[in-house]
Amino acid sequence: MIDSYKHQGLRKHLVEIIRGKGITDYNVLAAIGKVPRHFFFDSSFLKYAYEDNAFPIGSGQTISQPYTVAFQSQLLMLGKGQKVLEVGTGSGYQACILAEIGAKVFSIERQKSLYDKAVQFIPTLGYRIKLFYGDGYKGLPAYAPFDKIIVTAGAPYIPDALMEQLKPGGILVIPVGGDDVQEMTTITRISEKEFQKREHGKFRFVPLLEDKARED
Ligand code: SAH
Repeated sequence: MIDSYKHQGLRKHLVEIIRGKGITDYNVLAAIGKVPRHFFFDSSFLKYAYEDNAFPIGSGQTISQPYTVAFQSQLLMLGKGQKVLEVGTGSGYQACILAEIGAKVFSIERQKSLYDKAVQFIPTLGYRIKLFYGDGYKGLPAYAPFDKIIVTAGAPYIPDALMEQLKPGGILVIPVGGDDVQEMTTITRISEKEFQKREHGKFRFVPLLEDKARED
């Protein structure tokens, strides 16, 4: 696939749309302007790649809306070289945005077909992201603690394992709620024992599923 001037122009336009919706973090906007979102789409759907919408990626899952990706990324307040865990690799787009910002990214996916696709595809874009097939509710204890954790599916509750895997000063960004709507929530680990919760408005995600990883 190629990244033509036309694609680059569409991306610039997308950045302006997202800026217009209130995203101010320069590094986040620059990353949206850089990562070729159309590479994550099937060739027959290319024209949808630079609209500010979520889109189906197969296996009943979606690539998140660019604004949502930017909003969650901004809440992470990422510094270069920080260790970030993503739960819900999906297409890999959000993971690439975080890598483009300069984070060391670890990402977990529970659907084998999506994990396999991401393992093949992401290195072709030049990003080095550590991908794992498994259940994100458990986090990645072997690689913890993390500076930041981002969950990209709607969680019915905040998993303790993810809070435990935050460094002091770390931030967890997670949409919390039922199947229809979730509240974007941040948990900041103030100290070993103290956590501060904040809410940032309503979003809609596919559900964070609780059963074990699936072979489909
Ligand atoms: N970040 C993705 C958005 C993917 S949608 C992107 O940029 O494209 C949410 C993803 O979370 C789906 O791929 C879904 O399979 C995955 N998921 C759902 N429950 C999960 C769990 N318990 N552990 C890991 N991944 C999960």
